[in-house]
Amino acid sequence: MKPNQLLIKNGYVYDPINGINCERMDIAIKDGKIVEDKEINLQEATAIEAKGMVVFPGGIDIHSHMVGPVVGGALPIAPKEVQRALVLKQIGRLYAKMGWTMAIDPAVPPLFAKQAVMELNEIPIIDKAFYMLLGSNWLMMEYVKENLFDKFSAYVSWLLRNLRAFAVKLANPGGGELWSWHYDLQSLDDVIPYFNVTPREILNTIIKANEKLALPHSIHLHCNNTLRPGNASATMGSIKIANTLEAGNAERKQTMHIAHIQYNCYGGKDWDSMESRAEEVAKSINSTDKVTADLGQITFGETMFLSPDGCLVNRIATLFKETPLLNRDFENEDTCGGVKLTYSRDNPINSLQWAIGLELALLIDDPWKLSLTTNSPSGGLFTKYPEVICWLMSKEDRETVLKESPPTLQKTSCIAAIEREYDLYDIAVITRASPARALGISKIKGHLGIGADADVSIYGLNPENLTHHCLNRAFSGAAYTIKSGRIVVKNGEVVQDIQGQIMWTETRVDENLEKAMLNDLELILKRFYSLNFSNYMVPENYVQEGRVITPK
Ligand SMILES: [Zn+2]
Repeated sequence: MKPNQLLIKNGYVYDPINGINCERMDIAIKDGKIVEDKEINLQEATAIEAKGMVVFPGGIDIHSHMVGPVVGGALPIAPKEVQRALVLKQIGRLYAKMGWTMAIDPAVPPLFAKQAVMELNEIPIIDKAFYMLLGSNWLMMEYVKENLFDKFSAYVSWLLRNLRAFAVKLANPGGGELWSWHYDLQSLDDVIPYFNVTPREILNTIIKANEKLALPHSIHLHCNNTLRPGNASATMGSIKIANTLEAGNAERKQTMHIAHIQYNCYGGKDWDSMESRAEEVAKSINSTDKVTADLGQITFGETMFLSPDGCLVNRIATLFKETPLLNRDFENEDTCGGVKLTYSRDNPINSLQWAIGLELALLIDDPWKLSLTTNSPSGGLFTKYPEVICWLMSKEDRETVLKESPPTLQKTSCIAAIEREYDLYDIAVITRASPARALGISKIKGHLGIGADADVSIYGLNPENLTHHCLNRAFSGAAYTIKSGRIVVKNGEVVQDIQGQIMWTETRVDENLEKAMLNDLELILKRFYSLNFSNYMVPENYVQEGRVITPK
């Protein structure tokens, strides 16, 4: 069979991992990988003329709710636009249309890994993965209580391998368990009943285990007190914990990735006195290499807020006078819920949330510490990324929103005074290079150097002449999206569905240690669970196209 060869000619290339900033150059592709020009046969290769256009690596979404029991459970009663976008077949096509080639689901309870994998198989074109929820897991808390750090590492290693999971997610650590006792966790030092452990102890143990196993991604943390006035203190407390610990994987420096950080930078005592503390949180991120974050920017309009933090779902349902669509406890593992929401420009809380997200993005000095997300669909569907990119790149675009915002915003936020505007290089960082590095996959993804996966997006944008209209249009429909060396989108339209890969992490610990851990797990399953061992296991043949990442 003839090799599949492509040559992308004369584009303005943005490839931050390789330090390339708007350089006119060609990109050669052979059999799904980026290669040197001389390796392809020019007579046989398909040529793409990219003169006057920009060439990016494929986009990577580090946090997007797509599968699992919450999305599936809430979708039938979600707003129509969310329903249409989150049809599994549609997710991959909509991402590809925008030039994104990978997305990760952040909230799968371990016992629902099978369902998640089956659903991920159905998402075409893009590569996919999921994080497993461990924040209120009973065996985890048992091990933290008894200080059985090694056994806990064995548990994480066994779960990742058998669930086909990519990384560890903690949502409101300890908070899900406390919530089932009808308490709302308020601080890093609240004690979880029976287990007598605190979120601080959970974070410390889990980060140490994560780094001892040298997992590709750091822990992925949905902080305690998410979406609560005054929560910036807990966020900065968590950052301090990350600061004291060392990363075990050389590909990244961070020991903690904070998910949708916009929801975690609030000041004030209650919703009436809520104000931005983005500046302080940005400062503490500026002063450390141990933390990365994704934005969780909100956009305006109707959407569905989904979260593995059941307590939080109840809190916002009460605030916005909505009934949760769903809120569940998953055995002894975690909670998950969803509620319908409309973010309005003239609502003082929503407009402040909008401002806080942008303040963070513009006040965190180093874009390598940030990834672009809307916590889709919670802050707005991922299809709204072009709009967020425009706000980041244009003060004028922000001012259009500010004109319609409540006057209170002038007192509660400093967004109006911020002059900074992102350039295309910064956008390539927060949508490609930074998520790839934070995930520990920057050797294979997020760049256009020799040997990288041939995931490329080409946008009809002239870097010399950027306007709101052309930015929004270009990022909404890529001129070309190339996935694994195949042209999947042309002129903003999907031209073929291919099967992307599901990526997971495999790591091993001492066999006897794993056996001892499995005895504990069996005991806890027999005593407290309605499901059993086999519910966890995702057989290899469940995964249509798989790719194992092995920590070095
Ligand atoms: Zn989320």
